[in-house]
Amino acid sequence: MNHIKHPSGRVGVIAAMPEELSALLAHMPDEAVERCAGREFWVGHLKGREVVAVLSRIGKVAAATTTTLLLTRFGVSEVLFTGVAGGLGEGVKVGDVVVADALVQHDMDASPLFPRFELPGLGMSRLVPPQAHTGHMAETVRAVLRPEALAAGGALQDVHLGELGLGQPSVHRGLIASGDQFINAEATCASLRQALPGVMAVEMEGAAVAQVCHDFGVPYAIVRTISDRADDAAHIDFPRFIAKVASHYSLAIVEAWLVRSAVQG
Ligand code: SAH
Repeated sequence: MNHIKHPSGRVGVIAAMPEELSALLAHMPDEAVERCAGREFWVGHLKGREVVAVLSRIGKVAAATTTTLLLTRFGVSEVLFTGVAGGLGEGVKVGDVVVADALVQHDMDASPLFPRFELPGLGMSRLVPPQAHTGHMAETVRAVLRPEALAAGGALQDVHLGELGLGQPSVHRGLIASGDQFINAEATCASLRQALPGVMAVEMEGAAVAQVCHDFGVPYAIVRTISDRADDAAHIDFPRFIAKVASHYSLAIVEAWLVRSAVQG
């Protein structure tokens, strides 16, 4: 490992739940744990890059606290969020990956003082990660998930999509909605789709991470693997997926990103 030149820039990697990060931590052999605000920050290397990995816990406030610490105390120059989400968009199925090209807090509503979803003080409702980042991330995920890579074993060799009844995964780019609510009702999905046309996925942290990174002017990418369809079966699909698949996806995607962004500088 020592002969590898470490590109500058620490990368912060956040996930909400242990199941999403376990495989990645197992691949960070030299990590040292630093505790802060009740969280463990694993400072070490992955694929020759300096990485700080942390579990945010679930929800927007927990994600915002964690992101702030990564930026101010751990000095990361880029943030990646990797985890699972409910699929809302048509054709966004369990096992697919959504790379956010915009994020919204679907439970932010200070109307009539501000338009629904607008973040008071920021004057915007949609947080947009740097486009180049989003584009590179989508290409990275496509490469990880392409049929030949999956057939060859590749980074996802421990994942048997067929056994879970899942087919070839697709990669989507689009709007992710975040809020402090686990969505498992078709009626709620319908009203989210109506209020946020084109929304692809729903989760509980991404737009909070985005808001903090926006405030600090730090690039970020939010990548979500679809664990459920946020419908009446979501609470059954979700734990099954999270136990078997989520952490392998996170590891494969983050590793590929670190290698790729090092090459591109
Ligand atoms: N009972 C679970 C709670 C998980 S909450 C537990 O064992 O702790 C769901 C987590 O997965 C959140 O971090 C959220 O970002 C994501 N997620 C996946 N599917 C979701 C959905 N349908 N609605 C909201 N968040 C979802």
